[in-house]
Amino acid sequence: MSRFWSKTVHALTPYVPGEQPKLANLVKLNTNENPYGPSPKAIAAMQAELGDSLKLYPDPSGDKLKQAVAGFYGLSSGNVFVGNGSDEVLAHVFLGLLKHEQPILFPDITYSFYPVYCGLYGIDYRTVPLDAAFRLNPADYRAPNGGIIFPNPNAPTGILLDLPAVEAILQANPDSVVVIDEAYVDFGGDDLPTAATLVNRYPNLLVVQTLSKSRSLAGLRVGFAIGAPELIQGLERVKDSFNSYPLDRLALAGASAAIEDRAYFDRTRKAVMASRDRLSEQLRGQGFDVLPSAANFIFARHPQRDAADLAKALRERSIIVRHFAKPRIDQYLRITVGTDAECDALVAALADILQ
Ligand code: PMP
Repeated sequence: MSRFWSKTVHALTPYVPGEQPKLANLVKLNTNENPYGPSPKAIAAMQAELGDSLKLYPDPSGDKLKQAVAGFYGLSSGNVFVGNGSDEVLAHVFLGLLKHEQPILFPDITYSFYPVYCGLYGIDYRTVPLDAAFRLNPADYRAPNGGIIFPNPNAPTGILLDLPAVEAILQANPDSVVVIDEAYVDFGGDDLPTAATLVNRYPNLLVVQTLSKSRSLAGLRVGFAIGAPELIQGLERVKDSFNSYPLDRLALAGASAAIEDRAYFDRTRKAVMASRDRLSEQLRGQGFDVLPSAANFIFARHPQRDAADLAKALRERSIIVRHFAKPRIDQYLRITVGTDAECDALVAALADILQ
C-alpha cells in the first residue's frame, strides 16, 4: 500500500506466475514449458539478426511474422495480430473486444489471468461452472453476455472441447466475440484441433495462440491472434495506443523461423504427446485419477493423499509441480510433461512418497 499509488493500482489483484527458481538441478514441471529446445532454424535466424541492425527499431507491424502465421493456417496477414506473449495479446483482447455493457462469461475453473484482466480494465464477468467431470457444456453459454473466453484445451484441466461444440457456442452468440485461448492446442492430437480453421466462417471468432509451448519459445515472449480483419484492426488500435514495438527484432526473426519449421514442430509436439500418454498411464498405475489431457501437462489427484502434501514432498526431492489452493481443484496437481527421463524421475519420486 502506498499513498503514491492510483486508486486503480490499490484495487488490483495481480496474477501470480509459476515459480522460476534460481536453483540448478531441479526437475521443473511447474510452468508448462517444453522440454525440447526451440527449432535450430529459429536459433539460427536470431543469431543472424544479432548485430548492427539492433540500432534500428523493429517493424512495428511485425509483417514477416504475420505472413508466417497466415501461411501456416492458409489465411492472410489481415487475419493476424502479433504481441509480446499471448498474455499481452489477451490483455489487448480484454480491453479492445470484451469490455462492453454486459458481463463476459468464462468457466469457473480456467486460466487465472482472466479475472485479473477484468480487474485491470474494469470489466464485469460471470463464471460458468464446469460439470462434475470438469467438462464445459456449450448450452451454458446461451445467456446474454458481453463476450466469451475460455482456453481450449482448458487450463489447468487439459480437457479439450471438440470443434462442433465450439461452433455451437459461436452460433449461439453471433453478437459477441468468442475468444478461444489455444495456448495448448498443438498437443491436442496429430490433426490440430484448432478453431483457426473456422475463422473465415465466423466473424465473431478470435483464436489466440502462443509460441511459448509447442514452439518452445517461452523465453522469447511471442503470441498471436487470428480472426476476421475487423477484430484484428480493433486489436491494432489498442496496441498502437500502448506500445508500437511490442516485438523486438530477435523475436520477429526467431518466431517467424519457428513457425516456418513445420517438421521440427511436428516432431517435438508428437514426442510430448507420447510422453504425456505414457506418464498418464504410469500415474494411473500408482492410483492417481488422471484427467484426459490434450495439453502438455497432466491434471491428477490421488484419492488417498493430500495434493499440497504431495507437492511439498516432491519439492523435497527437487521436483516441482504446480498446486492451486482453489475451490474444486485443491486436491489436484498440475504436472508439466517433461522428457521421458524427467517423467521417470517424477514417477520414481512418487513411488517413494506413496509407499
Ligand atoms: N493462456 C493460457 C491458457 C496459459 O496457460 C498461458 C501460459 N501461462 C498463456 C495464455 C500465456 O502464455 P504466454 O504469455 O507465454 O504466451
